[in-house]
Amino acid sequence: TERLVIVGAGQAAFALAAKLRALKDERPITMIGDEPVPPYQRPPLSKKYLLGEMSFERLTYRPDAWFNENGMDLRLSTRVVKIDRAVKTVTLSDGSTLDYDVLVLATGATPRKLPVEIGGTLEGVFEVRNKADADRLAGEMRPGRHLLVVGGGYIGLEAAAVARKLGLEVVLIEAAERILRRVAAAETADAMRAIHEEHGVSIREKTGLVNLIGENGHVVAADLTDGSRVRADFVVVGIGVTANDSLAKDAGLDVAGGIIVDELGRTSDDSIFAAGDCAVFPYRGQPIRLESVQNAVDQAEAIAAVLAGEPRPYVPQPWFWSDQYDVKLQIAGYNAGYSETLVRPGSRPGALSIWYFRAGDLIAVDAINDAKAYVSGKKMLENGINPPKESLADSNFDLKQLLA
Ligand code: FAD
Repeated sequence: TERLVIVGAGQAAFALAAKLRALKDERPITMIGDEPVPPYQRPPLSKKYLLGEMSFERLTYRPDAWFNENGMDLRLSTRVVKIDRAVKTVTLSDGSTLDYDVLVLATGATPRKLPVEIGGTLEGVFEVRNKADADRLAGEMRPGRHLLVVGGGYIGLEAAAVARKLGLEVVLIEAAERILRRVAAAETADAMRAIHEEHGVSIREKTGLVNLIGENGHVVAADLTDGSRVRADFVVVGIGVTANDSLAKDAGLDVAGGIIVDELGRTSDDSIFAAGDCAVFPYRGQPIRLESVQNAVDQAEAIAAVLAGEPRPYVPQPWFWSDQYDVKLQIAGYNAGYSETLVRPGSRPGALSIWYFRAGDLIAVDAINDAKAYVSGKKMLENGINPPKESLADSNFDLKQLLA
């Protein structure tokens, strides 16, 4: 039987291993993860887990014992440091080597850090990617303290919401002209900005960081490009991630902002696959990389199907969510390249959805406290239904009629 080695023990790695067993594929699996804990869900790290409302046990998919019971050798606190494609081995951080027949890279991504020159290495500066990060950050979240969030993406906004809920003072700066610039339309950003301002976050757009100011090696304040100085007892940095593709690159695989794979998840080496945040794959003729649970799971399951001898190309049906305060933002589709948006008022106060079109076709929906709009939009996208704009704009029109 073929030996499968999975590099990384996160979302995609777990989904692949679980799917293989569900497909009755019993090959031996070795999963190597550099964190000290078995695979777990990351989204709550900036939401309920950070708030202290969810235990770590609830984040893990399976207890340690499950892996062994299912014929998997789960090696934790261990890094893969090298791939030797000629002899099909990987080298581990303890110096040992492992043979593989099939190798899957599920290495995820690493948060960008603030440059050292502007104080990025001061104590009290945090990124949020893993349990250790969230645990350290949670220890800082005490009422009355001052948090500076750098970056108005989902992670920064979620951390700001948690901090306000716990009674901290929060300033969030975004260098671009608005928050959520990379991922959502201005209408979605407007709604989310208003919600944060109602909750007392000071959101400062078109405002960058000049530098952090430290005392005894710990951050205490920040100078901003608008000339102001703000107190910062600690800082959360949410300025994006880079794909963990250096192992692949060093092994001579094709990489470009991530590990390049085809629609079956295969890299430029037939024995090596990649899935999740580290992988760049074709979508409607363009290479893209997504950072979402849906993508990691579906892409990993597509690789499992290939290995189990039932290949079917991965065609993403993107969806994503974000929780901030009591607001649930749900996103269906992929909005890149949109040319037009339409706002649909929801049937309840505070409910709203933003519909994205490209060349007249619906490509994505952002729903804010509007599960009905999300569900209908997702179904329309899956079934290629293009809703008439006048129906969307009319909050009394029942979208389900378009799905009949
Ligand atoms: P990961 O889950 O990151 O797993 C990769 C693992 O590989 C890590 O443990 C890493 O340490 C390990 N690793 C890397 N290199 C090596 C090596 N050489 N050797 C051994 N181990 C290695 N998505 C959503 O859809 N909705 C959300 O609301 C949402 N919120 C999020 C909030 C936070 C705070 C974060 C960090 C992410 C969030 N995401 C969300 C994104 C989602 O969690 C990721 O897209 C998903 O985890 C990607 O899975 P992955 O397996 O590719 O990578």
